Amino acid sequence: MPAYIDRPRSIVDSEIVEVTGWVAGPAPTAAMVTVNGMAIAHESYERPDVRDAMPQFPFTSGLTAIADLRALPPSRTLDIIVSINQDRERHRVEVSDALHDRWLDEAAKRAANRAFCKIHLRCPACGATGLEITSAAVTCKACRVAFPQRGHALDMISVPLAIEANLAITANVSANPYTPAALALIDRVTARGGVVLDCGAGSRPQRTASVINVEIVDYPSTDVLAIGEALPFADHTFDAAVSLAVLEHVRDPFKCAQELLRVVKPGGELLIDVPFLQPVHGFPHHYYNMTAQGLTNLFAGRAEVLSCTVPPHGHPIFAVQWLLRDYLAGLPRDAATTFGAMTVDELVALNAAAFLGDPRAQGLSQETQSPIACLNTLHIQRL
Ligand SMILES: [Zn+2]
Repeated sequence: MPAYIDRPRSIVDSEIVEVTGWVAGPAPTAAMVTVNGMAIAHESYERPDVRDAMPQFPFTSGLTAIADLRALPPSRTLDIIVSINQDRERHRVEVSDALHDRWLDEAAKRAANRAFCKIHLRCPACGATGLEITSAAVTCKACRVAFPQRGHALDMISVPLAIEANLAITANVSANPYTPAALALIDRVTARGGVVLDCGAGSRPQRTASVINVEIVDYPSTDVLAIGEALPFADHTFDAAVSLAVLEHVRDPFKCAQELLRVVKPGGELLIDVPFLQPVHGFPHHYYNMTAQGLTNLFAGRAEVLSCTVPPHGHPIFAVQWLLRDYLAGLPRDAATTFGAMTVDELVALNAAAFLGDPRAQGLSQETQSPIACLNTLHIQRL
């Protein structure tokens, strides 16, 4: 059965490589794409050009796959293989010198972080240190809980912990750049040889030396898989910690705050971003927005507040814009047009209670109201 790799055909210069190609045959068959031996998930799509060019084959399909090279050991070349049944189409491309250098650098940082983490690991189930670490599993000698190792990051999430944190499988990719304040803290601490915990790091485009990325998703930049309520590190492991737009997604932010404090050395700094007036944005869950007072209260009695301020990326204009944008998007077209034409003065002067019967208010479904609601009502019956 024929297969062909369209791209890449020339020197690769980016960590993110899009592989495209096609397969043809007598009947639909599952194809597999690998890059340097690693299987890459692919999507199929119609390829009329292939179908027309190969009328002798009843089945033709295009395929596209995205490989993130940071998940692979550094190499000078990429061996791309599309296999379909016993047949294999193989194509080799070179990697640019610049990419190879970045790739080596990334791998070295990953290895250094892994070595650091292995020394400082602590069982997230019972709190014991001195874990048994093999390539297949990390095992707690005290409580015998085993953490099977499957991906690239050190996996310290057991099934009970996943249930406790209500983790959900998600295809969303959370990727935000460091804020200027976080970058300044990281620079300051790492410059004097310190190590920083990035709790809920998301997918970082590039690793920063001596920053340990903790996540619930195994991104290429993730060092350790863990839940915030049970960090798998010994007390006083880190010189500082950052947690940016994470605590609103944590089921127990009080416990998570205590964990952050526990793993940072006395005198170490913590930088925490948490939204207040942000609409619901589920990744994968969104529990608690916080006022400045609430955020500060999480750490009360265990840390000195150096400052609690609104950074430029937290300016109220983002809240106003986000809210209005979601409001407009939730309205039927006619109502959106007339609502959109209202001035800010008109909105502010509005008798909101009387406006509830207006199509510009009624037009919002319960579903679109919830993420931007002023208030929710919960009605329950105790067990
Ligand atoms: Zn244990």
